[in-house]
Amino acid sequence: MGQFISSTKSARRILPHKNEEDTTESCSDLGHPQTSLDSLPVLKKAKGHYWYPSKGPKILDACGGAGVACLGHGRRDIIKAVKKQMKAYTYTSYAHFQTAPVQELSDWLIKSTGGKMQKVYVMCSGSEAMEAALKLAVEYFRWKGEPERTNFIARHDSYHGCTLGSLSVSGHHTRRTPFSPLLSPTHFHHIPPCNTYRTAPSPSPSSSESESDPAAAFLAPKTTELDSLFARLGPHTVAAVVLEPVVGAALGCMPSPEGYLAAMKAVCERHGALLIFDEVMCGMGRTGAVHAWQAEVPSSLPGGGDGEGEGEGVVPDLQTVAKGFAGGYQPASALLVGGKVAGLMEREGRVFTHGHTYQNHPVVAAAALAVQRAVQREGLVGNVRVQGGLLGRLLRERLGGHPNVGDVRGRGLFWGVEFVRDRETKEPFEPGLRVAERVQRVAVREYRVLVYHGQGCAGGGRGDHIMIMPAYNISAKLVEEIVERVAGAVEEVFRRL
Ligand code: PLP
Repeated sequence: MGQFISSTKSARRILPHKNEEDTTESCSDLGHPQTSLDSLPVLKKAKGHYWYPSKGPKILDACGGAGVACLGHGRRDIIKAVKKQMKAYTYTSYAHFQTAPVQELSDWLIKSTGGKMQKVYVMCSGSEAMEAALKLAVEYFRWKGEPERTNFIARHDSYHGCTLGSLSVSGHHTRRTPFSPLLSPTHFHHIPPCNTYRTAPSPSPSSSESESDPAAAFLAPKTTELDSLFARLGPHTVAAVVLEPVVGAALGCMPSPEGYLAAMKAVCERHGALLIFDEVMCGMGRTGAVHAWQAEVPSSLPGGGDGEGEGEGVVPDLQTVAKGFAGGYQPASALLVGGKVAGLMEREGRVFTHGHTYQNHPVVAAAALAVQRAVQREGLVGNVRVQGGLLGRLLRERLGGHPNVGDVRGRGLFWGVEFVRDRETKEPFEPGLRVAERVQRVAVREYRVLVYHGQGCAGGGRGDHIMIMPAYNISAKLVEEIVERVAGAVEEVFRRL
């Protein structure tokens, strides 16, 4: 084993760790469910911002696993809160008792939305929360006397979960393909993604607004795409539009351009459909606001929003959260229900026909509550904005000019780097080269930094990116170190390719 020497300032001073097990041919995909377990290193412990494998030096955690570990690892206060709840009681069916952790967590979440969301279901995974959102949308319209509303519209190059319903609504080429016969083409429909890197804003010839306003020029065709699909399906058949405000795994941390979400919401409202925001990855502080939708500005939007709630973001009807919700201290997610749906449930005494055995699990809720209180107490969403600004700037400085880096984008502590064969044409690499996977592997094995990689999403199964999503309590010094290590790995991979 070689000696790894860390550095915060210069890439040249970072000496790669020589790993005898490393082979450039084998592309192990650390942390991905499709990986053969045999190819993964054994984890001994994790503490703070580091993973400690059973062999070799510690690994700097720059992605919290899959964007989960928002407080870092091994926090005693969170472990204590979980233990305390386990000592009181470890489980009760949500159908038999209410529990203090679930009640307090629900109150906390509702307050965090300024009361825009009014009801909460606590679950264990993002996919579960997404399934519940889809089902609640359908049941809401049944209650309303509109049972024909059973269609959903989402986007290509999107990911909303791995269960059949959530995968059906996803537009993720590589994750859908093996199961396509089981995914419902009848009820799930897709519009083009809002990929600001690959889709150049194209002015709409008919719009005079677009001639003077480039934002409007970009948004006009996007609105038309959604409107046209509503028209084709029959607007009265659409239950909801599903969007991820800042696209995570599918596109690699791509924020929506200003005005886009409000424009989509305006179309939904015009046709009486619900708007569902999937904040499984981008929510709970990750992008620098507790909820990503709170950072959207409805007032400046061409043709979007009604002025109501100005400065309070673009409010969805249903919202899902997970990942940073309990920071990995328990498997936690939630479905948040906005006023339109919750109000009808309240008025008519409706009960959602849905329930998992582990729904509203008290230990899960205790962990999420402890994590959220810590994030709030320590002002970590503010730190996300500060360190996120630094992370983005350093990534752009260090990698923005690399001939194989097409784009560096993100928001908060949620940054993606997209790799291309040709910067001018934006031509992606052939999928067989597994470029993002190589970067991830060299990063972890030789530069001892863990990043998340995504592949096969940016347009019909091609495209490579890595994602950098450190914990919210990361320091400026560690942000600098992450960038130097990642840059070292990127440069190394393209030297060898
Ligand atoms: N939605 C988004 C945006 C995600 O990124 C993910 C997972 O990566 C999911 C849904 C599914 O969540 P889970 O893996 O917890 O089921």
